[in-house]
Amino acid sequence: MALDRFGRNIHYLRISLTDKCNLRCVYCMPEDMVFRPNAELMQDDELLKLVQLFTSLGFDKFRLTGGEPTVRQHVVGLVRDIAAMPGVESLSMTTNGVLLKKLARPLKEAGLQRVNISLDTLDPERFHRITRRGKFDDVWEGILEAERVGLTPVKLNAVVVRGFNEQDVVEMARLTCDHPWQVRFIEMMPFAGATDFQQSQVVKAEEMQEQIVSALGPLELLNNGSLDGEARIYRLPGARGELGFISSVSLPFCATCSRARLTSDGKLRLCLLREKEVDLLTPLRQGATLEDLRQVILNGIWHKPWGHGLAEGEVALNRVMSEIGG
Ligand code: SAM
Repeated sequence: MALDRFGRNIHYLRISLTDKCNLRCVYCMPEDMVFRPNAELMQDDELLKLVQLFTSLGFDKFRLTGGEPTVRQHVVGLVRDIAAMPGVESLSMTTNGVLLKKLARPLKEAGLQRVNISLDTLDPERFHRITRRGKFDDVWEGILEAERVGLTPVKLNAVVVRGFNEQDVVEMARLTCDHPWQVRFIEMMPFAGATDFQQSQVVKAEEMQEQIVSALGPLELLNNGSLDGEARIYRLPGARGELGFISSVSLPFCATCSRARLTSDGKLRLCLLREKEVDLLTPLRQGATLEDLRQVILNGIWHKPWGHGLAEGEVALNRVMSEIGG
């Protein structure tokens, strides 16, 4: 079991399969983002070795992310190998959905259990403005295909940014009336320097809820108010699906954090919004034994920061979101 010094049991690993992406979302990376050369990224055998190591430390929940995980070569084979590892109880993916029409079925057959698909608006023009290159229809077809093949419950992630899509909150919420999906609204986290966004463009969950309630009716709190992952869950009257609010900025959930992240270049990132990382790939390539690496991981986890400092204006500068994985 991997414990940190605050007594939190860290057993959930988000693995970034690549820093590359087929979109350039405005809040996630700069338009002229330069990606790392492949040689700097974990190769398939290295990635699998590290995942195995994490399972031996009690990690049982894994999420594949990126960049865009579906653009990683051999993604289906990697999913198959990870899903088959003893100790892997939960295996899901966060994706922009662009390639899901083609990949949802092979991914499901390989052992992927669920997907979270990022979609910030239902308006094709605004979608293109936010993603700088994407086509709304590709993602929509990807969502339907994910549902058809059973990558369920489908969860949609919408980052809300003032000046871009705050007018879409109600229509996104309305999707849950007809679809058994969980639409999750995410407060944008500002990454200084790398994107142009400021605290003033963060739309807080409370403001989103006010918009939804006045247009669609009262929200019923589900789960006794406990978090589902990082989201607080509600339902609209008579709706088939659920609404989730991820209030990382206004109401951080650091006390219940059970996560660590493995970046595509093999660094153990201990908090999404803190710069502290522990290099695993270099010692692996230099021939460290598995026991050495276990100690490096356990020591890193022990020193996991308590939480982020957004409220104090502290932001991580060393990576943008696409380089960490969200
Ligand atoms: N490419 C995949 C996708 O689009 O879902 C996976 C990687 S993306 C970095 C993972 C999640 O992070 C997405 O749901 C995305 O919307 C979210 N995200 C990216 N930048 C963010 C930011 N500045 N604040 C909050 N969430 C962000």
